Amino acid sequence: MKVAIITGITGQDGAYLAQLLHGKGYRVIGLIRSYSHINFKGLEYLKLKDKVELVECDLTDLSQVMSIIKEYNPNEIYNLAAQSSVSLSFRQPIGTIQFNILSVLNLLEAIRMLNPECRFYQASSSEVFGEAKLPIKETSGINPISPYSISKASAHWITKNYRDSYGLFSCSGFLFNHESYLRSDNFFIKKVILQAIKIKNGEAEILEVGNIDIKRDFGWAPKYVEAMYLMLQQPHADDYLICSNHSVSLRSIIEYVFNYLNISLDRLVINEKYFRPTEILDIYGDNTKAKAKLGWEYEMSFYDVLTILINEEIENGK
Ligand code: NDP
Repeated sequence: MKVAIITGITGQDGAYLAQLLHGKGYRVIGLIRSYSHINFKGLEYLKLKDKVELVECDLTDLSQVMSIIKEYNPNEIYNLAAQSSVSLSFRQPIGTIQFNILSVLNLLEAIRMLNPECRFYQASSSEVFGEAKLPIKETSGINPISPYSISKASAHWITKNYRDSYGLFSCSGFLFNHESYLRSDNFFIKKVILQAIKIKNGEAEILEVGNIDIKRDFGWAPKYVEAMYLMLQQPHADDYLICSNHSVSLRSIIEYVFNYLNISLDRLVINEKYFRPTEILDIYGDNTKAKAKLGWEYEMSFYDVLTILINEEIENGK
């Protein structure tokens, strides 16, 4: 039986990846910060709580990471744990940068010392490219403009360096935004849908947002985790962009959700208080390499994803 370790198993992607790997017959070990503060929402929603093994680990402590690798001798490690919010990273730059870089370094160093055959996936982000010529490709220059993207860019270079210098099978997946019912409440799409349903039900008056004239390339999380798995099944380690190939404006997303729920756009309020200090205006990627080399398939329009998300939210709210 193959053994996979997933860090960040309590997050959106961690839960969907655990479901995928469990379905493929892996023994899945999930690393968590602490049993006393664990968020079981995703694992319970996907009925996985009793199908994965959860182990406490402080990823900033090399000795703890080493003892886990020694004990479980994993074939694959998927490193998804991170302070994952761009907005929060502007308020907590040091914590974001410290954790998002040191955790990666500790995992790779432990693999190098104890289990160099173990394959490693690093959850990188489209945010590392900043304002760039579109579409973004694997060859695009890295130009991070937030504490979050600086941490992810550094983590990517560390991952690449362990591959080039020490011959480890370590890959970065540059994932563009991807959503699901399991997205945390502090992310834009989830916030918009939850608030719109509240307005529809007479429980809220308005939706207040920041700059919605920016565009992003959004996708469907359960399909994006398939790409993580595929990256670690290749003959050679490499880095890939995972995206939908299109960007949509935040304004058009709100319009779609409001229209779907029959809510007037008068309920939308723009507040400059929520504008970020620096912001990428438009970003979308080119997924040709992932489709050609990984055999990854993705054809969903984001409006189809929104329809699924609105209905799943309404169903679960009943
Ligand atoms: P989530 O925010 O849903 O999950 C993050 C996970 O990391 C949680 O399990 C969380 O644990 C854990 N974590 C956060 N901080 C720490 C810490 N200090 N110590 C230990 N664990 C910690 O993220 P997603 O599942 O959406 O994303 C997975 C990865 O992919 C992240 O690295 C993210 O940055 C990256 N990514 C995501 C994109 C997206 O659109 N979803 C796009 C590009 C990259 P806890 O439950 O205890 O808080």
